[in-house]
Amino acid sequence: MSEVQEDLNPFDIAQSQLDHAARILGLDEATHQFLRLPMRELHVTIPVRMDDGSTRIFQGFRVQYNDALGPTKGGLRFHPEETIDTVRALAAWMTWKTSVLGLPFGGAKGGCICDPKLMSVGELERLSRGWVRAVGSFIGHDRDVPAPDVYTTPQIMAWMMDEYSKMAGYDVPGCITGKPILLGGSEGRDDATARGACFTIREAAKYLGLDLQGEAIAIQGFGNAGVFMAELARDLLGLRVVAVSDTKGGIYSADGIDWQVARDHKQATGSVVGLAGTRPISNAELLELDVAVLCPAALENVLTADNASRVRARIIAEAANGPTTPAADEILHAKNVFVIPDFLCNAGGVTVSYFEWVQNTSGYYWDLATVQERLDARMTEAFWRVAKVHEERGIDSRMAAYCVAVQRVADACKTRGWI
Ligand code: GLU
Repeated sequence: MSEVQEDLNPFDIAQSQLDHAARILGLDEATHQFLRLPMRELHVTIPVRMDDGSTRIFQGFRVQYNDALGPTKGGLRFHPEETIDTVRALAAWMTWKTSVLGLPFGGAKGGCICDPKLMSVGELERLSRGWVRAVGSFIGHDRDVPAPDVYTTPQIMAWMMDEYSKMAGYDVPGCITGKPILLGGSEGRDDATARGACFTIREAAKYLGLDLQGEAIAIQGFGNAGVFMAELARDLLGLRVVAVSDTKGGIYSADGIDWQVARDHKQATGSVVGLAGTRPISNAELLELDVAVLCPAALENVLTADNASRVRARIIAEAANGPTTPAADEILHAKNVFVIPDFLCNAGGVTVSYFEWVQNTSGYYWDLATVQERLDARMTEAFWRVAKVHEERGIDSRMAAYCVAVQRVADACKTRGWI
């Protein structure tokens, strides 16, 4: 048992991070208080006809945290342990994410308490359409634009876009992003989170003077971000993927794990665990491996006061949202571990969502090379904006990213005349 009793409520964490940034920036009291809370939130109940003929009531949320910089933007999670405070925190982090990337969006997040792994395709479709009917008047292409996140897929985005368009009476592809390409999705959206994260790792290595070729990376989480991370860390950065994990456990191989073989094994068996040529490790052990890069790519609060002192990675690339607690941040900073904070590291997803929205709005579609080039330019610029503040102010990289992001949102609130 740790002596430190940490508060792991994600919204408390998001607020305490903002408080810290507000102190560094010398933010005035009104702006600080305004940015501590979401501007709007909607709680809905969604009745869904289940395959057995019964009707189940699901709870859903949409939180629009701040729209000073533009329509709000952010994903939607389907998760059995979803809470309103998690959605609030994720909406706050979206606000800082779009801001640090310089996108013309505010931040939002949605959620629904459900377990998609236990639902049929038909039930999932009815729930997805039900969520849109429930929040339909609250969202829209120039108001609030949802996207995929944990356990939500391009197919779910397609059903949602279709439902929204039926309600509007005409096709509104830009009401949601992360759609299949056939229905107005963008080239390059599928691996955008991982690709963007790789660009920030590449820049971090430059900044730190590290050569990553042949070095090891451990990836916690083997969903959309984790699988593409395993592929691109090798292909773009020359890293050796020595460990990956999912909710059932992890696997390790010093020689490296092939992402395709691991993915196929997970598809066939439900988990990466048991892959031939690897040894099993726990999620906890994975986080403490001696690797150049550690990539948490699953959920919140995996690096805490309990384990941060045992982290041996040189760079932590936060493909997940909220994986590191404030107490862990302090420990990692003192240990000289370079953290690429979540809302910078994983911003590739929303950046290509922005490209998708622009393409939907203009009706003119870009090729893959254009998307990837523009993503690289955006991520690289954002990385160095943050690195500059980190260097100049001597603060940890998460606070540096907060300073850049919060200042822009605060200035937008002031320039609009709100405060
Ligand atoms: N859910 C992703 C995130 O957390 C993507 C959001 C988006 O594309 O709007 O950044």
